[in-house]
Amino acid sequence: MNIEQLKGIGPKNQALLHKLDINTVEDLLGYYPYRYSFINIINLNEATSTEPIYVKGTIATVPKVSYIRKNFNYLSFVATVNEKLVNVKIFNRAFLKNILTVGKAIVLLGKYDYLKNSFMASEIKFNVQDKSIEPHYHLISGLKESMLIKWVDTALAQNLNIADHVPDYYNEKYEFIAKKDAVNLIHRPRTMADIKKAKLKLIYEELFDYTFKINVLKLKNEKVLGLKHQFNREEITDFLANLTFKLTEDQVTAIEDILNDMQDEKRMNRLVLGDVGSGKTIVAIISALANYLSGYQTAFMAPTEILAKQHYETIKNYFANTNLKLLLLTGHMRAKEKQAAYAKIQNHEVDIIIGTHALINDNVVFAKLGLVVIDEQHLFGVKQRNALQEKGNVGPDVLYLSATPIPRSYALCLYGDLDLSLIKTKPHRRKEVITKVKKEKEIKDVLFKMLEEIKAGHQIFVVSPLIDESEESNLNSVKKLQEKLNTAFNNQVNISIIHGKMKQTEKDTIMNDFLAGEIKILISTTVIEVGIDIPNATMMVIFNAERFGLAALHQLRGRVGRNDLTSYCYLISDHDNARLKVMEESTDGFYISEKDFEQRGQGDLFGIKQSGDITFKLANIKNDHKILFQASQDSAQFLKSEAYLANPYYQKILDDIMFLD
Ligand code: ADP
Ligand code: MG
Repeated sequence: MNIEQLKGIGPKNQALLHKLDINTVEDLLGYYPYRYSFINIINLNEATSTEPIYVKGTIATVPKVSYIRKNFNYLSFVATVNEKLVNVKIFNRAFLKNILTVGKAIVLLGKYDYLKNSFMASEIKFNVQDKSIEPHYHLISGLKESMLIKWVDTALAQNLNIADHVPDYYNEKYEFIAKKDAVNLIHRPRTMADIKKAKLKLIYEELFDYTFKINVLKLKNEKVLGLKHQFNREEITDFLANLTFKLTEDQVTAIEDILNDMQDEKRMNRLVLGDVGSGKTIVAIISALANYLSGYQTAFMAPTEILAKQHYETIKNYFANTNLKLLLLTGHMRAKEKQAAYAKIQNHEVDIIIGTHALINDNVVFAKLGLVVIDEQHLFGVKQRNALQEKGNVGPDVLYLSATPIPRSYALCLYGDLDLSLIKTKPHRRKEVITKVKKEKEIKDVLFKMLEEIKAGHQIFVVSPLIDESEESNLNSVKKLQEKLNTAFNNQVNISIIHGKMKQTEKDTIMNDFLAGEIKILISTTVIEVGIDIPNATMMVIFNAERFGLAALHQLRGRVGRNDLTSYCYLISDHDNARLKVMEESTDGFYISEKDFEQRGQGDLFGIKQSGDITFKLANIKNDHKILFQASQDSAQFLKSEAYLANPYYQKILDDIMFLD
């Protein structure tokens, strides 16, 4: 049923809904609330001045509007609440003045100050039951929640039959409620238990669907033929013999896996999972070499320009004594340079092309693409992954590199379509980063250490995480931190800020200045560019460290200690210090992410953004990992038993993935 057919939605609002990808009534019903507020009306006597409460009353005086400045006003009036006259104030509700007539029944949300007998309200409601749950939906400009609630009510009243994608067998096995009931309850729950029941069903459905696709992809990848690379392994052995270091055991195994894949006629789809600094680059370089020896070109894709440049320099060094030709392709190149680069790629004048997304531009035509390397693969979505794979006539082999040290069980659910090589051991040469957990009041020690490092000519990363939902106040808190540090260091140290809202070019400029050593301390609001190598950075200071999962802290810490110097990581926090102590204990990412799971019953899964290839409406891969594991197992079983043959929905998914490339 098209959304146009639903009563009460005009063309303007239809356009708004289309923006949210809501085209049918079913889509609208699939637009689930993202949170709820629980309304529990209490007596004023039970109020504490710290907690927001709901109270019921009536308007006793005509509201007065006071303007403070443009777009900033407040409304004040007296209300009778539990037989008491209370002064009420609420900001920016001037428009309610004429609605709030004397004698009107209202429900107020806010805080009550007993001594002043004043109620600072944040919301005024009408027609509310004593106990109820209100859904909240993600909104866009022009779309009001009240409208959405009305439309959803109308849609629910249609009593449509909504397709249930959980196979009957599992519905019975887990005693899930019917899809239709789940949809009703997720939008209009009466109790917490309603929300729980509905979520369980809908989350399982989502994860079953996702993991079914992964399992089908896995099946497909087992069968898809690729290039059969032919090269002389001795040449690779010779190259390895000339390295200045000895490969670790896991590096050797990973290389072995990859070379076998490449020589096989099956198309390689391999993910190398290894901690930061575990030495994934050399593994990729060896595969590029094998690819070159087989007569093919390699596309080496990095998530940012800086990383692409860094890889280019590294690879150039490794191949300095060979005939291999490299090319760096970036989005910033001038049109003329780009044209020249495209020509070189098309004429096979270059063997390894290193770049960013620019590599999957339609203008890039490879003469003979044999291997695609995708660094930090979680930053690319499935669509981009496919676009690149389709570049060759017969699909090239694909190698993904990721520094997300997630437990194998997780990786199998989320990336089960890829073969896995884990690099757990680290090169011996690497020094452990000395890690200390400090309380806010011990900040002097930290500043002292910072100064010491700066004096020694080193550089420092400072991370100050998201404190508030609003971008602006975040930025303010970071700017305050910059001021504080400037004061502490007498304005003698060059300190810069980098944050998520900046344009990529701005970020690149700052990162380049940091790389060049002009900036001494870099404060970032979000996470520092994945994988960036600043060899001279020897210290990482993380404020409000309790806000990060251990795996994320580990990833951040990996930004330092990338040299022969002793490096330090200071975690500043007044909470949760027992958990943070794990960071003092170990520098093994896999160990840390396992610990994170143990302690909190959930991992941090840093880097796996719920975007791109992994988007769920309700499921949260961190919190819902038990359902994820179960659904993954069930969908694999479902596929294997061929039960999907009797299920048109899954039959179609299978056909789409297997046969329509
Ligand atoms: P990552 O896995 O984070 O991409 P890199 O590949 O950048 O790690 O390697 C980090 C550093 O370790 C590089 O300077 C690299 O030359 C060095 N390295 C890699 N393998 C070894 C090894 N087996 N022994 C010593 N150093 C190594
Ligand atoms: Mg790397």
